[in-house]
Amino acid sequence: KRTLGILGGGQLAQMLAAAALPLGVRCVVLEPDEAAPARLVARHLRAAYTNEAALADLASCDAVTLEFENVPVEALAFLTRRVPVRPAPRLFEISRHRVLEKNAVRALGIETAPFVVLGEEDDSVSLAAVGGQGIVKTAEFGYDGKGQARVRSVEELRVARKAMNFAPSILEGLVDFVREVSVSVARSPSGEVTFSGLVENRHANGILHESVWPASSEASVASRAREIARTVAEAWELEGLLTLEFFELRSGELLVNEIAPRVHNSGHLTQDGGGPSQFEAQVRAVLDLPMLDFAPRGPSGMVNVLGWEGAEPDWSEILRLSGARLHLYHKENRPGRKLGHVNVTGSTPQEVAATMARVRNVLYTSANVE
Ligand code: ATP
Ligand code: MG
Ligand code: MG
Repeated sequence: KRTLGILGGGQLAQMLAAAALPLGVRCVVLEPDEAAPARLVARHLRAAYTNEAALADLASCDAVTLEFENVPVEALAFLTRRVPVRPAPRLFEISRHRVLEKNAVRALGIETAPFVVLGEEDDSVSLAAVGGQGIVKTAEFGYDGKGQARVRSVEELRVARKAMNFAPSILEGLVDFVREVSVSVARSPSGEVTFSGLVENRHANGILHESVWPASSEASVASRAREIARTVAEAWELEGLLTLEFFELRSGELLVNEIAPRVHNSGHLTQDGGGPSQFEAQVRAVLDLPMLDFAPRGPSGMVNVLGWEGAEPDWSEILRLSGARLHLYHKENRPGRKLGHVNVTGSTPQEVAATMARVRNVLYTSANVE
C-alpha cells in the first residue's frame, strides 16, 4: 500500500488522484480553498499550508508531489526534512520565476525567446533591445496569459507596467512562430526517462484553447524536443514530471517558452489516448514505479472548456459524440476560466479534427471566446 501527498487541490490534483487510485495508491491532498476541484478527493481541505497536523499527515506519505508552483516555501521546507518531495523544491523555485527559468535553460545551451529584465535600463532601451515591441510578463504568478501585456511603444510599456503595480517583470521579444508545441518528460528516482510525444497547442489571448497529438511538426523537430526535455530532466535531476512549452520557428528551431514542473493542460489528451496518462506517469515517477512512455496510441485532441458568459453549453451534445470524452472540474463558472476539457480520439487526424470542430461548436455557441 502506498500513499502520495499532493500539495494543491486544483483540477490537476483531482486528476492525479484519479490516476493514482487504480495503481493501489491513495492520495492525501492539502488545499486551503474549500471550493477547489480536489475537494472531491481531498483529506485536508481548508487546511492552510502552515497547518502542522495536515503537513505531518503529508510527511507520513511515501512521497509528496505538487500540482502548482506557488506553495509557500515554509511548507516545502517542513516537508523536505521529513519525506521525499518530488520534484525537488529547487525546480519549483526556478520555474516559478521567469528570469531564473530562462537563465537556467540558457545555461544548458538551450534557446529561449529574447528578453530583458525591466527596470535595469530605461524603458526605451529595454524596448529597443527586444526589437521595438514585445510582451511584458510579470516574473512570477502569471498563468493563462494573466500578468501579461503586449506593448508596441514606450508609452504602452509604461501603462502596462503601472497596471501591474510595477511588479518585477520581464519584456520578451515577440516571437514569430509557426506553431506552439509542448512535450512532457517523466524521470523516476531510478533514472528511467519517458516522454509524452510532441503535442501542438493553439492559444488565444494567452490561454490554451486546443491541443492535438501528434503535432504537425517534422519528425526531426519532435526528436529535438525530446532531447531538449531529456537534457533538462537530467541536468535538473528531475524526480517526477515536467513539461516544456516551445515556440517552433519556420526554420524548425525550437525556443523554450516556459517549463512547468508538473502535469500540464496540453497533456490532458493522454487521458483518453489509450496508454498511460501524464497523470499516471507523474504518479509512477514520483513513487519510483516502472515507467512507460505516455504518448497517445492514436490520433488525439483536446478542447478546453472555458467559462461562458451566456447560456451554459449543452453537455448532452458532447456526450452524444462517440469520439469525445467530457472531463469537468466541478468549478464555478467565470468567463474565460478553465472549467474542464473534452478529449477527442479518432482513427485519423482528420477524424479527430472533425470531432474537435463539433465540440468547438457546442462549447463556443455561448460566446465564451474573446
Ligand atoms: P501558462 O498558462 O502556459 O503558464 P503563462 O500565462 O505563463 O501561460 P506564457 O506561456 O508565457 O504565459 O504565454 C502565453 C501565450 O502567449 C503563449 O503560449 C503564446 O501563445 C503567447 N506568447 C507568450 N510569449 C510570447 C512571445 N514572446 N511571442 C509571441 N507569443 C507569445
Ligand atoms: Mg506559465
Ligand atoms: Mg505558457
